[in-house]
Amino acid sequence: MGGSNSGRHGGKSTTKGRNTLDVRKLQRDGVLIPGSRFTSSWTRNGKPNGSISVTVNEDSVWLIYRHGGAAGQDMNYRVRIEHTPCNYGGQRTWWLCPCCGKRVALLYSGKMFSCRHCQQLTYQSTRTGESSKPFERADKLRRRMGWCAGVANPQGDKPKGMHWKTYLRLMNELNRHSIAAWQSTDEMVKRLTGRLAGIGGM
Ligand SMILES: [Zn+2]
Repeated sequence: MGGSNSGRHGGKSTTKGRNTLDVRKLQRDGVLIPGSRFTSSWTRNGKPNGSISVTVNEDSVWLIYRHGGAAGQDMNYRVRIEHTPCNYGGQRTWWLCPCCGKRVALLYSGKMFSCRHCQQLTYQSTRTGESSKPFERADKLRRRMGWCAGVANPQGDKPKGMHWKTYLRLMNELNRHSIAAWQSTDEMVKRLTGRLAGIGGM
């Protein structure tokens, strides 16, 4: 346990200790049968550490769980499955990350299950200190829309039942925060580059 983690700010440990959904393991276990339903549960140190309900359809699953305990939120969304042929016959199974649409074998737990890259974005946006405000504001609005957090992620559709007027207002707000977030990233990059230049003499 532990191991050497030389990254500052926690470095690459974003997805360490997260629960994962491994599509290949599920495939091997033979539970990805359209029309079936199963529960995926995790333990940590021998204690239960979350479980979700998975309903299997043709080429997708629905993940159903509650995020954040009693005061949390009911989550219920679709994750698509794709198959690609292998060189030596047979086929390989992939998730399509519900946030970015990329093909991945593993989805990591978070508010939404998503790929390592998307988890990293969410993580960074909550770990960058004072400059994280616009990220947080953007993420909050994105969640209200039912989209994945992370300003770099694609924007979804208007949530069902939301008035167009509300939607347009929120979109306006979201764009403002997203622009601010990008600007703060830009400044952060400049500061870091400046610091590296200052080290120099290599
Ligand atoms: Zn992703």
